[in-house]
Amino acid sequence: MALPKRRHSRQRQAKRRTHDRLKAITLVPCPQCGALKRPHRLCVSCGYYAGKQVKAMGEGAKKEKEVKA
Ligand SMILES: [Zn+2]
Repeated sequence: MALPKRRHSRQRQAKRRTHDRLKAITLVPCPQCGALKRPHRLCVSCGYYAGKQVKAMGEGAKKEKEVKA
């Protein structure tokens, strides 16, 4: 296996790690119910996506696995 000849400098390591930070997730208000949801994803509060009910919400839907917000 290839063996590095020199260790990377701290500066080089730090430059690589500038991209490692996690970004805060984007939230937009749901056009149906107004709750904050992730864009291009099902609304976990009302079950609507693109103006249509795509997931049953309320009492009958509690056994279903929750879709991650
Ligand atoms: Zn909604």
